[in-house]
Amino acid sequence: MQFRSINPFDNQILEVYEGSTTEQVNDKIEKAHQAYLQWKNTSFEERSALMQSAAAELLKNKKIYSESITMEMGKPIKEAIAEIEKCATVCSFYAEKAKDFLKDTPLDTPHGNGYIHYNPLGVVLAVMPWNFPFWQVFRFAAPALMAGNACVLKHASSVPKCALDIETVFRNAGFPQHIFNTLLIGSADVKGVIEHESVTAVTLTGSENAGKSVASTAGGVLKKCVLELGGSDPFIVLKDADIKTSAKIAVKARMLNAGQSCIAAKRFILEKEIAEDFTKQFAEELEKLIHGNPMLFDTDFGTLARPDLAEEILDQVNESLRQGAEIVYGKLPKKNDSAYFPPMILGNLQPGMPAYDEEIFGPVASFFVVENADEAVKIANESRFGLGGSLWTEDENKAKSLASQIESGAVYINQMMFSDPSAPFGGIKKSGYGRELSYLGIREFTNQKTIWVK
Ligand code: NAP
Repeated sequence: MQFRSINPFDNQILEVYEGSTTEQVNDKIEKAHQAYLQWKNTSFEERSALMQSAAAELLKNKKIYSESITMEMGKPIKEAIAEIEKCATVCSFYAEKAKDFLKDTPLDTPHGNGYIHYNPLGVVLAVMPWNFPFWQVFRFAAPALMAGNACVLKHASSVPKCALDIETVFRNAGFPQHIFNTLLIGSADVKGVIEHESVTAVTLTGSENAGKSVASTAGGVLKKCVLELGGSDPFIVLKDADIKTSAKIAVKARMLNAGQSCIAAKRFILEKEIAEDFTKQFAEELEKLIHGNPMLFDTDFGTLARPDLAEEILDQVNESLRQGAEIVYGKLPKKNDSAYFPPMILGNLQPGMPAYDEEIFGPVASFFVVENADEAVKIANESRFGLGGSLWTEDENKAKSLASQIESGAVYINQMMFSDPSAPFGGIKKSGYGRELSYLGIREFTNQKTIWVK
């Protein structure tokens, strides 16, 4: 199998990579296992020094790494640079905090001395998507390695260069050989890797269907599994919110990475009193976006990561229009094998339409107008996903009460949803299970062992 690195902006093939053979895959897993047997005995101080070195390597070569991202999946270069910087931040965060996060937790046992001790699990497989091709990997790998695990990566087939670059980061940082190995394999080969006797656990960031497949394979061999899946996050604006700020942030929350983010705001739920004003200001903010070549620093909006992704969104929009949805802002693109899809606002949405029920993984904002806050929460919860959400109001008590009623892994008040090393990240419902980041994330791939001394 071959993996092609293609620039979605001009469809140029950048490079073709030979995939890993079954023998090479088994060899890399076995070597990762051997590396783990040494690595698990290293001190936090040794691991921490290497993780800080990975942070330094990312920053030193951020031009190279960010260009790999932009060339391979099309996000604007300034966003790619920010992604590399964020990866360095998560490396430093866990370099500093892992020891504390994994120190023994005392238990309130009725006699003797009971506590929880955290051991690594072994070789963990990471199956990752193309949308934040460095960040998704680092937010898993930094804590997993600091906990004493080894990692094997199966990255999305469209970003083989990023996948190999990440292996280079750890190698250049001085990590032991094979503690982080990239496998160039397709999704059909994931099952065999999960079932490999030296692989102890798997994490997947990706779509609902991939989640079902990975979870059922992991279930079949009773291995630990974490799933970070899709989202259709609500962005609720109540009548007492700061409309100017919320509209400006709303555009960022929807259009970052051309809308290809699991935690992008996708459904804008507006109290009727402010709906018209918010929509007008949202549209004005969309007008300000600079479209163009993602390699140029001024560009805010390039293309999607692949032409087939643009086509998929066009199908979702056309089906919604066929069922009665309306374009409030924007124009339908032509079907022309381009990865470009323009920003768009859809209104008049009803259950059964893709723009109501499904995740739209691109720059299409679904707008809803509601009578009151209770109806806003009701619509927010009418989704099979439950990843994040954003809620805007000047009334903090009301915001906290509504936040607790929203069915999702997170609600951010008067700010857009974003991931940060300090805050746990993950979903409920069809958005998956398990948590990344913070102290919860690093404990996912440990044996949380009870020790009780009489
Ligand atoms: P995807 O098609 O599920 O791919 C993600 C990864 O899973 C890729 O490495 C892919 O490999 C692999 N894969 C696909 N089908 C598989 C299967 N049946 N068995 C095993 N592995 C499989 O997702 P995507 O289209 O690249 O990414 C977009 C989705 O990811 C969206 O739904 C988005 O919301 C979600 N996402 C979630 C988070 C989060 O943190 N919750 C973050 C980012 C993205 P191939 O490339 O070889 O097919």
